[in-house]
Amino acid sequence: MSPVEHCILSWITSNSVSMARRDRVMVTAAGVLPDFDGLGIIVDKLNGLLGRESTFYYIEYHHILGHNIVFALLCASIMAMFSVAHKKAVFLLSLFAVHLHILCDVAGSKGPDGYQWPIYYLNPFDPSYELTWSGQWMLHSPINSAIGVATFALAFWVALRNAVTPFELFSLKMDRAAVAMGEKYGWIKSKAKKNRND
Ligand SMILES: [Zn+2]
Repeated sequence: MSPVEHCILSWITSNSVSMARRDRVMVTAAGVLPDFDGLGIIVDKLNGLLGRESTFYYIEYHHILGHNIVFALLCASIMAMFSVAHKKAVFLLSLFAVHLHILCDVAGSKGPDGYQWPIYYLNPFDPSYELTWSGQWMLHSPINSAIGVATFALAFWVALRNAVTPFELFSLKMDRAAVAMGEKYGWIKSKAKKNRND
């Protein structure tokens, strides 16, 4: 699944209970952060472009460093540490967001060459354990597109219900402008603003 879909799914997760914006941002970040282990692709591509010796950081570390139980617990603990007022909820929802990310990868991230990109979930305790699913579909499958559409529809529903939008992840100003527009056109009712928590 794409990072944008992971991000929106995590944002929806963060809205499952009433929390401050900063806490929602942290839960959302927890659901995206596992893919930090794929950033090696930038170095690999740059080395290729600059004619340097080839590196394979993407293949060596993707789904290994950030997609395991230790990372999940560490990430959830750090997010809870920086939480404003809902440490327990942030910890649990961050833990859930990381696992939802892993579940999405196991279900629908098969490469174009048919490679399943196993998840090394028990790393570093048992580096040989590989989590895969025989029914896994391709990353560019229409199923992922359908899930993407459903995810955005769900995010839209959350926006109507809580008078808050995913724009809050980047800019409160943008978020407020989007909510004001929603109110202007009657999509967001004034009673929804009671659910909003900044
Ligand atoms: Zn991932």
